[in-house]
Amino acid sequence: MPAVQELFPEPVAAWATVAVDRPIDVGGGGLTWAIPTELADLQLGERVVVPLGRRGSPTNGWVVGLAAEAPQPLPETWKFVLRRAGGPQLPEDLINLGLWIAHYYLAAPGLTLSGMVPAAVTRGTGTVERRLLHLAPDAKEQTARGPAQRAVLDILRTLPSEALPIERRVLRTRAGIKTFGPIDKLVDNGLLIQECRTEIDDRWSAQALEVPETPIPTAAQQTIIDDVGGVLTSGFSTHLLLGVTGSGKTEVYIRLIEAVLRAGKSVIMLVPEISLTPQTGARLSARFPNEQVAVLHSALPGATRNAHWSAIAQGQARVVLGARSAVFAPMTSDQLGLIIVDEEHDGSYKQDSAPRYHGRDVAIRRAQMAGCPVLLGSATPSLESWQNATVTSKATLHRLPERAPGLEVPTVRVIDMAQQRREGMAYTHAISPPMRTALRRTLEQQKQALLLLNRRGWATWISCRQQRCGWVMRCDQCDATMIYHRRGDLPTSGYLRCHHCQAEVRLPRQCPDCGSGVARLGTGVQRVEDEVLEICPSLVRGKTLCRVDTDSMGSAQDFHDVLGRFQRGEIQVLLGTQMIAKGLDVPTVQLVGVIDADTALNLPDFRASERTCQLISQVTGRCGRGASVGLALVQTLDPTAAPIRAAINGHYEQFADEELQLRQQVALPPIARLARVTVQHPDLDQGQALIGRVTEAIKAIAPPGVTITGPAPCTYPRLRGRHRFETLLSCADAGTLQSWLHACLHAGAFRERFVSVDVDAYALA
Ligand code: ADP
Ligand code: ZN
Ligand code: ZN
Repeated sequence: MPAVQELFPEPVAAWATVAVDRPIDVGGGGLTWAIPTELADLQLGERVVVPLGRRGSPTNGWVVGLAAEAPQPLPETWKFVLRRAGGPQLPEDLINLGLWIAHYYLAAPGLTLSGMVPAAVTRGTGTVERRLLHLAPDAKEQTARGPAQRAVLDILRTLPSEALPIERRVLRTRAGIKTFGPIDKLVDNGLLIQECRTEIDDRWSAQALEVPETPIPTAAQQTIIDDVGGVLTSGFSTHLLLGVTGSGKTEVYIRLIEAVLRAGKSVIMLVPEISLTPQTGARLSARFPNEQVAVLHSALPGATRNAHWSAIAQGQARVVLGARSAVFAPMTSDQLGLIIVDEEHDGSYKQDSAPRYHGRDVAIRRAQMAGCPVLLGSATPSLESWQNATVTSKATLHRLPERAPGLEVPTVRVIDMAQQRREGMAYTHAISPPMRTALRRTLEQQKQALLLLNRRGWATWISCRQQRCGWVMRCDQCDATMIYHRRGDLPTSGYLRCHHCQAEVRLPRQCPDCGSGVARLGTGVQRVEDEVLEICPSLVRGKTLCRVDTDSMGSAQDFHDVLGRFQRGEIQVLLGTQMIAKGLDVPTVQLVGVIDADTALNLPDFRASERTCQLISQVTGRCGRGASVGLALVQTLDPTAAPIRAAINGHYEQFADEELQLRQQVALPPIARLARVTVQHPDLDQGQALIGRVTEAIKAIAPPGVTITGPAPCTYPRLRGRHRFETLLSCADAGTLQSWLHACLHAGAFRERFVSVDVDAYALA
């Protein structure tokens, strides 16, 4: 009714900037609406409903700015905020952080802010209390009115006492009634007693994992505790803790957390994939028995997440442990005393959908905004952090070069697979004779072994038996081979799956090109499981030999169960993908075997070397944690490769220095900043044309000193039926890259569907 509004303009109380839950205003900071007088008390961070677009469709959003004066220039078609939407309120600090992320990573601000709050919180899942009912003590004497009420009472009277009190919903179903009316009437009339309870899932505090005793810090640990502890109240500073696996980094974190809590403040500790590292949660809870430790992870029920979130917001939970998104824990800047990022090099900190933020970098930004220190820890730091600590002095370097008292340095040996093959090792085997011997010996000594192969499935490709034919089974939708997975332990029952689009098909009997039989080639972790059983026939699949990968582990709980069984010594051989490389702390592991160190090495990605070195260092560091010296065996076709040599000799620092120099020569991150523009289009020609146009638009406004690489097809030119192209933008200076990207944005270069931008891209697949 614009005409009426013009005749009787409603008074404007103030102006609100609102970030709406839509993929619009990318890289921006919200749009403007007028606040009507009845909403004059609207606050920053509240959820509101605003009319969006020409039709004025009611849309939810966050109030990210308030102003008394109308913004200049005032949009011609301004409208009023419709109403409050209810739900959680975001603290101002998180709004600022969210707007920074939207700006830096070129994301939609409203969606970014909504992504910072667990869905369970926005929906209010935790506030749904359980209503439990039981009979009032004198109910038996009284009579109910009507058949429905009598049915309810009859059910309650026949239930055994341990089934009481009963949940309202369950009672309704049992009594066979359609509404809650009869139950509520009985409550009103005093025949039934209703209690409200909020149930908290205490899976974490109930973890039956062994927790190490509180050790006395070594001199090296104490120095770091003192150094970082000394600047806790001196504002923002960045620290990199380089400590070999088992050097007692976690102990340093715990002491620093103690210091922060003593000062009355809160801590956020980030770990990669918390659902895989239940031990850290158990350890923190054990060390802070009087604190509520909020453990945030995706496997938690919604209600628990909501409860934790509000406990943090209200300052009750002062220790927050979680994966990437825990960096958005809702405490205020005043409350926040320290952020810890453990295993800061880990790739899972980078989110691979919009907003494509990096958890470590957001942590640094958040610490800067809050004026508190941030501590990054790793045995194998990312080159980004290594550069900050050793070249640009943006971070202070602390070292724990030795393992904690009582832990031995494992013996690490490389096994040259080319040589093994020359000496007659069977081609059907993946485990070389020396590793076979070591495995048998470990089991004879009643010790445990950990075997890593970072390839899921049984066979990694299916091809025609006729060599001249050359047919290989590929996914219809992706440029990738199909992986053969076995179902159960029957050798012949299996299916083919694409690891990109998850499509599944049956194993063909014949080659579609020439009719010959098909061969299952390449070794996945399932096939290694068979081989281990063949080497050690006394092992029992699923009992003393366990396989851990995303196929065998249905839930985080499954994984925790396996970890518990491994810790208690029930599992002798644990075999798995990189899931097992993270944070596993089992003192009795005697043997670690890396089946194929080259899996990551040959990826067409400039971080392949770095990741290989990190992964091998992490797994080989898993042994020798108890009294006995461990043995780590690393199988590779390329024993002279720099990352493998460095990992085996424990020379990570030297490797990182050399790798930094290599990156310098080719102007790659962290020396240069990199943004990746991709087009993923259902049509090949249109996709190619689109990336061409986008690249032209980018080029047209390129500042001096920047590099544009592409357009070119991506490493996987087609995934999920989309043809993929990329153009890489790089620049030595982050500020220049940022203003260029924003100029491109304003010029409309990224506006079209199918185009996406990844700032500080991590995986270039
Ligand atoms: P990291 O996190 O560097 O891999 P952890 O903190 O997990 O190392 O420590 C490895 C093991 O050493 C743990 O079992 C821990 O309890 C123990 N530990 C740590 N610091 C000490 C110390 N000062 N004295 C004795 N044991 C220690
Ligand atoms: Zn596919
Ligand atoms: Zn064929």
